[in-house]
Amino acid sequence: MKEPITKNQWIRGVIAGVCAVVILLGLEAIGNGLHSATAPSVDANIVGEYQPGTYAASANGFGGPVEVTLTVGENGGITDAAITGASETPDVGGAAIPDLSAQLLSAQSAEIDGVSGATFTTNAVKEAAAAALAEASGIELLSGPKAEEGNLFIPGYYDGVSMGFGGDVTVTVKVSENSIDFIDIEGDHETENIGSFAVSMLGDRILAAQTPNIDALTGATVTSGAILRALKQALTEAGADLSAFPDAKQPEIASADKEEKTLEADIVIIGAGGAGMTAAIHAVEAGKDVILLEKMPYAGGNTTKATGGMNAAETHYQAEQNIEDTVSQFIEDTINGGHGLNNRDLVTIMAQKSAEGIEWLDSINAPLPKVSFSGGATNARIHSPEDGSGVGAYLVTAFLKKMDELGVNVMYDTKATELIKTDGAITGVKAEDKTTKYDISAKAVILTTGGFGCNEDMIVKYKPELKGTVKTGSPGATGDGIVMAEEIGAALVDIEQIQLHPTVEQSTSMLITEGVRGDGAILVNQSGKRFINELLTRDVVSAGELEQEGQYAYIIFDQKLRDGLKAIEKYVSIGITTQADTIEELAEKLNIDPATLSETLKNWNQYVADKNDPDFGRDTGMEEDLSTPPYYAIKVAPGIHHTMGGVKIDTDAEVIDTKNAVIPGLFAAGEVTGGVHGGNRIGGTAVTDIVVFGTIASDSAVKYCDN
Ligand code: ADP
Repeated sequence: MKEPITKNQWIRGVIAGVCAVVILLGLEAIGNGLHSATAPSVDANIVGEYQPGTYAASANGFGGPVEVTLTVGENGGITDAAITGASETPDVGGAAIPDLSAQLLSAQSAEIDGVSGATFTTNAVKEAAAAALAEASGIELLSGPKAEEGNLFIPGYYDGVSMGFGGDVTVTVKVSENSIDFIDIEGDHETENIGSFAVSMLGDRILAAQTPNIDALTGATVTSGAILRALKQALTEAGADLSAFPDAKQPEIASADKEEKTLEADIVIIGAGGAGMTAAIHAVEAGKDVILLEKMPYAGGNTTKATGGMNAAETHYQAEQNIEDTVSQFIEDTINGGHGLNNRDLVTIMAQKSAEGIEWLDSINAPLPKVSFSGGATNARIHSPEDGSGVGAYLVTAFLKKMDELGVNVMYDTKATELIKTDGAITGVKAEDKTTKYDISAKAVILTTGGFGCNEDMIVKYKPELKGTVKTGSPGATGDGIVMAEEIGAALVDIEQIQLHPTVEQSTSMLITEGVRGDGAILVNQSGKRFINELLTRDVVSAGELEQEGQYAYIIFDQKLRDGLKAIEKYVSIGITTQADTIEELAEKLNIDPATLSETLKNWNQYVADKNDPDFGRDTGMEEDLSTPPYYAIKVAPGIHHTMGGVKIDTDAEVIDTKNAVIPGLFAAGEVTGGVHGGNRIGGTAVTDIVVFGTIASDSAVKYCDN
């Protein structure tokens, strides 16, 4: 529970803060010792409920003011706690400061035990930290109305607003004297199938818990934080004393204390991303009893983040649009793009079944009729939704709807921990949620746990030079399936092949879809010059960026391009685009020489008119020039995107062991597998992979069950 902050305390804090600065300056001037500490930093991604930023407050210690400065990271957790107490007794309060700082970080709140014998300094740190965290929680100082004695609220409707991922999130509550009776959460700009889940799910949880002190939705912490801050604002308006609410956060029970349950199914599928949901739909349609395990509170995985489309050749959409393309060209492009490292058999079956995959998506109401060029493809082959929206979120919505219709049994918040092997065959899965351990026996298991792009340890293990690189994946992409499969003897292939995506906005990890370049955008460096054919493969474009000054680039496009690509609205709404009415003005805003940037654009527009790029030989994505103001730029650099390597499979999606034998009962599909993409995945082929191999894995598992 948080301490209430009164206006007087706050004013005292401000005065004390000013005093602290004066005293510190004075002390520095006379070269006196200064008791201060910055605690050892914690994981910058630590999850919490606060609003990202830096918050400082101070309170009186033993000898004078103690100032606490807390840094809240992207995911709402406290990542740094700096304490300064110039006037504390050196051997007592002063000596306690490093420990207090570490305690704030480990508690992630102001509720710390403190240091015995240093009570004054401890209390000052607690008071200042509580004040800083109140601000970080968006809590108004408690100067508002107060509910009547004995009541929680003043009955009525109240609103609160806070900044989410894509814009304002508004929470409206209706309260009676002692209960929250109704809640409405609006956050239309939150990311579809990520933040949007928090918008739709947290309301019920708040009503059930009757407190704002509930867990954030894992993986949607920014939106969850905004909802809970807005709720606290509304409840404060309603006269509530926020410190009086119980804490309903559900800590994970220690594994040894969890209840144990056994379950049974024909097929257990691990991971409800694109591959897992595709497999589940097919397996349930084939009459099998399926359990789909998903460790996150929602489905979608990295698939949700796919923004481009699905590569497929010889489709009816291509035929209808007079686009010539062949399965064999798709195979060659995939293998060329993958530097020849791909398993040709896997690529061949994927390309051959790609058109069928498009038809299956038609059949479940997820048509992808828009066909365009994408990096590394000879022909227009990437299929995307009609309205230009991101393919991943679009497909996840369709898969969820279909699974709902079929009544697929999805166990959310449930993490598979181990594959059960009996007499050489896989016969089940061990899994656990916050309270229970499951022993699930099954005739067949399908691994669809995705890649390891968000597991820093695995990234460093397999490709040390990528240490610390920005990650674009979903938080569930931690390689669990690869580890579990390796434990029971599966072979891994191309595991060190990790893909960088060249257009990632670094402050938000937002991936700027290849479609922007495919539709005609260019990349320029800080000198305002193009430096590469923007539609070469991702690894080549990434390497090109890393050779530029500052190792970044700007992606430049115009209003016409924005109008044709819905994904861009998201980039604008989260504030990562720079916009200007003229190229010169855009250049000025980016600190680029205006004459150089306008020369680059003038040349580019001429190349588009001539269908000839003499500078870098670009020959695709040149249908439209960039001449419709306003103009836009997004600063981008490479980010970790896709892990090409993984579990070894054959063309029936059977998992292969280190002795090159099939592991009976175990199948795998999607990013958890290796071999399909070789050394570099072509944009648009991850979706082909999940749809085609998700289907094959299901068909093979169904057959295996029946034998
Ligand atoms: P793909 O594109 O191959 O379908 P995704 O990344 O879209 O891969 O989906 C993988 C899914 O698997 C994610 O939703 C992720 O949270 C889930 N997942 C990963 N590890 C586990 C695990 N140990 N138990 C259950 N689900 C998992």
